[in-house]
Amino acid sequence: MPKYKYKRVLLKLSGEALMGSHDFGIDPEVTNRLADEVKPLWEDGEQIAIVVGGGNIFRGLTGAASGMDRAQADNMGMLATVINALSLQDTFEHHGMDVRVMSALEIRQVAEVYIRRRAIRHLEKGRIVIFAAGTGNPYFTTDTAAALRACEINAEVLMKATKVDGIYDKDPVKYPDAKKYDQITYLDVLTENLQVMDATATALCHDNKMPILVFNIDQKDNIKSALLGKHVGTIVVEEES
Ligand code: UDP
Repeated sequence: MPKYKYKRVLLKLSGEALMGSHDFGIDPEVTNRLADEVKPLWEDGEQIAIVVGGGNIFRGLTGAASGMDRAQADNMGMLATVINALSLQDTFEHHGMDVRVMSALEIRQVAEVYIRRRAIRHLEKGRIVIFAAGTGNPYFTTDTAAALRACEINAEVLMKATKVDGIYDKDPVKYPDAKKYDQITYLDVLTENLQVMDATATALCHDNKMPILVFNIDQKDNIKSALLGKHVGTIVVEEES
């Protein structure tokens, strides 16, 4: 078995990551590819928890911008994450993995209620845990939920999946001379206003010394390489080494 650097990780998947090349919804090609990547890691005994976003279906801010009550719109956004979580669970189960969805909002008929100790127990028993419904509160994001759950379950790293291969000093799509960081501090992310995660999520990771690894999910085997401690993406830490 390969020697992994991390044993317990929290993977943050945005709704957009599940959308693939579509404009909306879930692309089965993406969820199947994810399952193919995660399965061997799971078989090796890696403890994998996932926080899934909902932006591919509904975002509270978009609803609020069109006149909805913000809290109501956010509740819809949280329900969107439940849809994604159930879809991911279904695909992973079809690939033979043992998966539990735990929701921060009570929807007992479709998912377990989130209970921290139970989530840790699931991981110890070799189950993948998908956290749905964000933090369970409006005005938050699933990035903040990822930071919170990573801390709560004592994950060793929060792996933030994106469509770029790390953190740059400016948008690499617009600026070809953009410089990629291998390592960066939480403070630099906050003061330079780098769009990694929202400030609440970054601050929570900072306060609890939770490393954030930003990496490209579209590149095959990146999750495995990251778990093995190979150089992938950008890591956000307390102090650069
Ligand atoms: N949301 C919320 N509270 C949370 C997490 C999410 O109200 O703790 C809502 C919010 O409306 C957000 C939506 O759920 O727009 C989807 O989450 P997010 O935008 O973080 O998803 P992603 O960008 O990761 O796809």
